[in-house]
Amino acid sequence: MIQLNFDNRFLRELPGDPDPRNRVRQVLGACWSPVSPTAVSAPSLVAHSREMAFALGIDAAAMRSRPLVDVLAGNALLPGMFPYATCYGGHQFGNWAGQLGDGRAILLGEVVDRDGQRWEIQLKGAGPTPYSRHADGRAVLRSSIREFLCSEAMHHLGVPTTRALSLIGTGDPVERDMFYDGRAADEPGAIVCRVAPSFTRFGHFEILAARNEKALLAKLVDFTIDRDFPELAFSQDATTGQRLAVWFNEVCRLTALLVVHWMRVGFVHGVMNTDNMSILGLTIDYGPYGWVDNFDPGWTPNTTDAAGKRYCFGHQPEIARWNLARLADALSLLLADPAPLAAALDGFGETYAREAEKMFAGKFGFKAWREGDADLVNEAFELMLLAEADMTDFFRQLARVGFASDPAQAAPEILRGAFYRDDYYRQFQPALSAWLQRYFARLAQDEQTPDERSENMNRINPRFVLRNYLTQQAIEKAEQGDPSLIHELLDVSRDPYRDQPGREAFAAKRPDWARHKAGCAMLSCSS
Ligand code: AMP
Ligand code: MG
Repeated sequence: MIQLNFDNRFLRELPGDPDPRNRVRQVLGACWSPVSPTAVSAPSLVAHSREMAFALGIDAAAMRSRPLVDVLAGNALLPGMFPYATCYGGHQFGNWAGQLGDGRAILLGEVVDRDGQRWEIQLKGAGPTPYSRHADGRAVLRSSIREFLCSEAMHHLGVPTTRALSLIGTGDPVERDMFYDGRAADEPGAIVCRVAPSFTRFGHFEILAARNEKALLAKLVDFTIDRDFPELAFSQDATTGQRLAVWFNEVCRLTALLVVHWMRVGFVHGVMNTDNMSILGLTIDYGPYGWVDNFDPGWTPNTTDAAGKRYCFGHQPEIARWNLARLADALSLLLADPAPLAAALDGFGETYAREAEKMFAGKFGFKAWREGDADLVNEAFELMLLAEADMTDFFRQLARVGFASDPAQAAPEILRGAFYRDDYYRQFQPALSAWLQRYFARLAQDEQTPDERSENMNRINPRFVLRNYLTQQAIEKAEQGDPSLIHELLDVSRDPYRDQPGREAFAAKRPDWARHKAGCAMLSCSS
């Protein structure tokens, strides 16, 4: 018997929608609506995360058992589960979009694990809710594989993220027009069970402010501080304004740290709308995300974003700040003087700049960031962009250059494999050699052996990221009924910073056939 300890504070402490009908509507004066998952016809467990199961106290046998598979498919509930969907709004691509809400996510409750850690459990793709607008509440296998694998890969990379417990095939078809060209087709349906300490988004606050529901906004802020930020200390006599400022400052800090991680590993979220921004600074809502192959700050994986490139790799810090400013707008409704919010936003910029310097110093193998490093680092990125170097491979090879007997001579050849096109490599080789001369001069300023340096670099520069083309291959196989590549990618992603002998293929840079292929180079929002 699976026994989880539920303590559903969100339901208990925040007002719910009194209307029990599962009908699309505007939900006023409430943070959530009761709604049951819609049953599916033939659920099967395609994959699961043993780490997440372990954290929740679910053993391997229970994980595969019929009763639990039924729960993870939305066909049954465990004692203590009360399903609901939450109300949020958001700014999408820069514009206020009104009420959005959990349109296809249904929360099952909050589990408190044996260490006292709280986890919200949520099924994504479990059927319509009052927030489904014109859509069906379902998810297809391809996008569910992407969310499942990437959540866990990010966790193992040390990037703050929501987690994934399970991937269920529903046995039901889901109709999607993948390329928005009128050629809708049936695809296999799936459900991911997502897990996070909190799924609260910026948009949860924005919707209440947009509706001028001031008392409820204040209540949600208090609840969030209390439940999700227990480590924040306040003096006894702190005013509402002071509490709010301290908390928002922390949200800014966590968001800055998150984006520094994304820039470190080459992750592009793809849809940084404010409804996809976690209050805890977690990566949330894996849609048309992508991993940078050839380094390019202008790259966006999202086809909807191809023209504007609002959410491209290099814009992420700036967009995070813009999103925080929208959250500040919402919170300012509670303050007579919004100056502390503006100060916190400035704090975002400062934290980001400081942490990004630390991160880049680490990526290049400097002991600490020094005056003048910015030029050297920027020139390397410029070169990587123009000469098409693979972001992941370049830094792993850079960790090796110090070992050669004549490093300056040998280094370009060591780095050669990181470039996508040999003609570009040859064209830029003189510039690369010149850069390497300066790089070695810079390294000489640090007291560090090549061994120490490469070890440190390999702890921050991953060898394995969830390359877009690999996931696409796993999807194509799974759609033919063979999920083995999902399991293998999950396993590779468990140890992303170490060489894994025999698994070199999973670190290989994007092959030519994947350069412009849908699912590998670009992704539609249809999911
Ligand atoms: P996204 O851009 O995927 O973050 O989604 C934006 C909004 O659309 C959220 O409110 C989602 O819950 C909702 N949504 C996306 N896909 C579906 C779907 N298939 N059914 C219902 N709601 C959806
Ligand atoms: Mg979303």
